[in-house]
Amino acid sequence: MQFPFHLIPAPLLAWYNTHKRTLAWRSDPTPYHVWVSEIMLQQTRVEAVKSYYDRFIEALPSVEALAACSEERLLKLWEGLGYYSRVRNMQKAARILVLEYGGVFPSDTEKLKKLPGIGAYTAGAIASIAFGRRAAAVDGNVLRVISRLTENPTEISDIAYKRALEKTLTDIYPETAEKCSAFTQSLFELGALVCKPTSPDCEACPLRALCLAYKHGNQSLFPVLPAKKAKRRESVYVFLLETPEGFCVRRREAGVLKGMNEFPSAVYERETAEQVLNGWGVYEFTEMKRKKYTHVFTHIIWDITCVWAQADVAPFDAYALDEIEESISLPTAFKQCLSILQ
Ligand code: SF4
Repeated sequence: MQFPFHLIPAPLLAWYNTHKRTLAWRSDPTPYHVWVSEIMLQQTRVEAVKSYYDRFIEALPSVEALAACSEERLLKLWEGLGYYSRVRNMQKAARILVLEYGGVFPSDTEKLKKLPGIGAYTAGAIASIAFGRRAAAVDGNVLRVISRLTENPTEISDIAYKRALEKTLTDIYPETAEKCSAFTQSLFELGALVCKPTSPDCEACPLRALCLAYKHGNQSLFPVLPAKKAKRRESVYVFLLETPEGFCVRRREAGVLKGMNEFPSAVYERETAEQVLNGWGVYEFTEMKRKKYTHVFTHIIWDITCVWAQADVAPFDAYALDEIEESISLPTAFKQCLSILQ
């Protein structure tokens, strides 16, 4: 028997009307606001996104402002969110929007998907939430909810499954723009507040009567997740090298976080920190202070040894600590090294 998808919108919209959270990007859902919030939410929890979102929108209130922003300021505004290629793509897209669309977002998902960094999910979110179009936005939350409702045994990483679900959901979108906007958000909200990854609150769920996983007590079996791949580990020195001009900072030329600023770092196997400094032409330095920590990227884990030392010679550009904190963007993997100074 086919799952009755068409029975989802009515109870879900009624629930959403009374349970939705007040969020800054919901109070004024312009395409720009939806876009910025959705890109941020792809990598960070709602609670953590709030302050980043407010700061970003205050500094760059429009597509035009984003298009014109300097790279260093842009990366500083994104500092702490990670996945810096996303904000770089946002700026590329903003420049195209300004040049080719007069700064106005298209409402059509196919046109949106042609912009850098905008895939089917983000295009669906912008088209439905901001423009009230009938366009599904299927993310991990939505896949989890639907996989449980239907007890679908397909791995949620399966692209064909996702595409088919986008089509199935688009077909059941309500007729009015206001309800289309609410329907996308109601699916996100149900996944975030009720049909949570490890402990779904089924007694509070407006879709309980339809849910096959609930009916069979199979909630923990769905969604079917792909097997996790083991992450590669690397040992890395990060040098907090203090010189008369300040602390050394340079651009990463390769590897993870390529193009970002860093406190000079080096992947090592047996090399000592002293040998790395010698390799940079630094032979005279004070006794070193060290602190170890771990930083987890998507595919790699860094076992970091942060090394602080003072030297008379700066092998790279150097900046005062105030300047680093105020205007130089540093990914968290490096920034946390500053705690060695406390
Ligand atoms: S009844 Fe439970 S498992 Fe089913 S959709 Fe609702 S919260 Fe998720």
